[in-house]
Amino acid sequence: MIDVLVIGGGNAALCAALMAREAGASVLLLEAAPREWRGGNSMHVRNLRCMHDAPQDVLLDAYPEEEFWQDLLKVTGGATDEKLARLAIRASSNCRDWMRRHGVHFQPSLSGTLHLARTNAFFMGGGKALVNAYYRSAQALGVQVRYDAPVDALELEGGRFVAARIGAERIEARACVLAAGGFESNLAWMREAWGQNEQGEWPADNFLIRGTRFNQGVLLKAMMNAGADIIGEPSQSHCVAIDARAPLYDGGICTRVDCVSLGVMVNRDALRFYDEGEDFWPKRYAIWGRLVAQQAGQIGYCIIDSKAIGRFMPPVFPGVQAQTLRELAASLELPEAQFLQTIAGFNAACRVGTFDHTVLDDCHTEGLQPVKSHWARPIDTPPFFGYALRPGITFTYLGLKTDEHAAVHFGGVPSGNLFVAGEMMAGNVLGRGYTAGVGMSIGTAFGRIAGTQAAAAALKERAHAAA
Ligand SMILES: Cc1cc2nc3c(=O)[nH]c(=O)nc-3n(C[C@H](O)[C@H](O)[C@H](O)COP(=O)(O)OP(=O)(O)OC[C@H]3O[C@@H](n4cnc5c(N)ncnc54)[C@H](O)[C@@H]3O)c2cc1C
Repeated sequence: MIDVLVIGGGNAALCAALMAREAGASVLLLEAAPREWRGGNSMHVRNLRCMHDAPQDVLLDAYPEEEFWQDLLKVTGGATDEKLARLAIRASSNCRDWMRRHGVHFQPSLSGTLHLARTNAFFMGGGKALVNAYYRSAQALGVQVRYDAPVDALELEGGRFVAARIGAERIEARACVLAAGGFESNLAWMREAWGQNEQGEWPADNFLIRGTRFNQGVLLKAMMNAGADIIGEPSQSHCVAIDARAPLYDGGICTRVDCVSLGVMVNRDALRFYDEGEDFWPKRYAIWGRLVAQQAGQIGYCIIDSKAIGRFMPPVFPGVQAQTLRELAASLELPEAQFLQTIAGFNAACRVGTFDHTVLDDCHTEGLQPVKSHWARPIDTPPFFGYALRPGITFTYLGLKTDEHAAVHFGGVPSGNLFVAGEMMAGNVLGRGYTAGVGMSIGTAFGRIAGTQAAAAALKERAHAAA
């Protein structure tokens, strides 16, 4: 019998598999996806948020534990477990040497949109390179990997893992780590979670999924049905406004449109609906998905003029371009009169001081609702550009309740041999909101803990059986 079964094939699963193997356990990893699509959402990531008390290789200055914690507290509005959050924060300070040993390379952040050079370590080659490095290392260490292996049921007994099932096949193990992601790719479940709005629309019908199609939440649902303790709300997720032309799955990072703070956003009725200049883009990009989800038709339009060009990361699809605002309205199929009125009203309300996109500058609107607090400049210099944006779901926050040992709980009692890591438990730390790079901090910390704990549980049982 295998010692540790790891279910999932992304960052959290790989961290668990590597740690369990390093601890001397035999390990089998089951990835639902075929080999060419392995790695889940982790193949799309770019960086890891890291605590550090002084400059460290690719990280500038310092980002102490308390500041990281306060950032997390702020974005979650308190929907976080301080003990688990601090555990993940501390682990983020010392995991990179281990990651390097398994072939991950880091690079400094590029200058530009996200101002993350102090807080986040970027992966050379992105998440795809990270995942490939981990798979290579896992194979070299003797971890068995099976692709096209979607687990559809779990056998549990008294809160303990017994076996996983793939159709008629039954796989027993002494311990198990669940690291099978959220349920964001399950469109029917997303529909149910978001429900119907006042206009009778099902908002989730217009969502795009930024990552893998394989995170269907099958095991999350199975665990809910088995009575595991659950944390988080089904409608909470990381949700970004992305190019409406993005594919339904796996559009990844390049479908994000980062010029909202440089222009205005209007809805289908050509009306503005939120302060585009409220704060720096890295602190606000993840609220726009939900804001767009609340608009009729779940669509928004980001409008900029030529002054914005060169000041944001170019998205993969070019914007709709026009020489006049009238033409732009026609191309975007927005009501022309209202569009012209909205832009004219905005332009007249702009109080332009010294424009500086790298600080909270003094360019703002006066007498306009909603205000634009910073970077407000008239949209008056052709050519004009428009991007249609839809809600892009990154990952859901509903998950399994856990503790500092990454154990799955039943009625408050931790399982002795069933553990959880990554998006499947991120809601313990991240009940709401987001701060860039923390998904990987949580997944790496708890993946490593889960692997260590699962190996310890399995080896103990093996020794017990041999005695
Ligand atoms: C476009 C994009 C960019 C992102 N950028 C960042 C970033 O820069 N920094 C950051 O911290 N976070 C980022 N995230 C979030 C990030 O992906 C997660 O925090 C982290 O990678 C999740 O790791 P995970 O292992 O929990 O899940 P995943 O990487 O999604 O892995 C889940 C795995 O489980 C497998 N699986 C699912 N169901 C089953 C089943 N029934 N049986 C077997 N296997 C199954 C899937 O195939 C997949 O391999 C990003 C996400 C997206 C989509």
